Amino acid sequence: MYSIAIDGPAGAGKSTIARAIAKKLGYVYVDTGAMYRAIALYIMRKGIDGNDVESIAAECPDIHITLSYDQEGVQQIYLNSENVTGEIRKEEVGKMASVTSAIPEVREALLELQRDLAETSNVLMDGRDIGTHVLPDASLKIYLTASPDVRAKRRFDELNEKGIPCDFDRIKEDIIERDQQDMNRKISPLRQAEDAIPVDTSDMTIPEVIDVIVDAFHKKTAREELL
Ligand code: C5P
Repeated sequence: MYSIAIDGPAGAGKSTIARAIAKKLGYVYVDTGAMYRAIALYIMRKGIDGNDVESIAAECPDIHITLSYDQEGVQQIYLNSENVTGEIRKEEVGKMASVTSAIPEVREALLELQRDLAETSNVLMDGRDIGTHVLPDASLKIYLTASPDVRAKRRFDELNEKGIPCDFDRIKEDIIERDQQDMNRKISPLRQAEDAIPVDTSDMTIPEVIDVIVDAFHKKTAREELL
């Protein structure tokens, strides 16, 4: 099985890029952020504080996350059999996910599911710790970044397009706060794996980023096949 790991901070363009590359290569796209968001949604619905580590850990055995793919190959995520694909995209769920994802029991609950998926299909998995922890032997590892300004601008445009009122400075602050939380937590913090290729997308178009990664993948696998 082949696997591609794409890690990076919020708003670097991981999901857009990953989805397009997976489609191009015929791989299964696994959005691990959606899994953390689904757990965060469960915690929010229960009215539990995101910092109440003990209560959240105690809930973990009752949280069952599963995935399926619709006819267009779009990942659908289920929280205890309920499809929550749309609901988890809300801003407050992302913020909560960044807090609850620092809890060891939450990470353990998802690790097996993530590794199982990579064992049964060729996958392109994106997240924060895929190259460093989930799939340390991934065929290719990419660390996707962009400046906080560019990432905030992309998010701002996306919300505007959807007609959702928003404030640029607020979005930028949230992005920086989320980076801090994800990079400074004790377990599986966001960082570039030693063998990952860094790709700064600040001044690149989406097709350019896709080309760079697909190229790197073909080169890497061709080299391995020669060995
Ligand atoms: O990528 P997305 O914004 O959907 O992720 C939501 C949150 O889930 C991140 O801010 C991060 O805290 C957490 N996450 C993680 N490990 C992953 C994927 C996401 O900790 N592999």
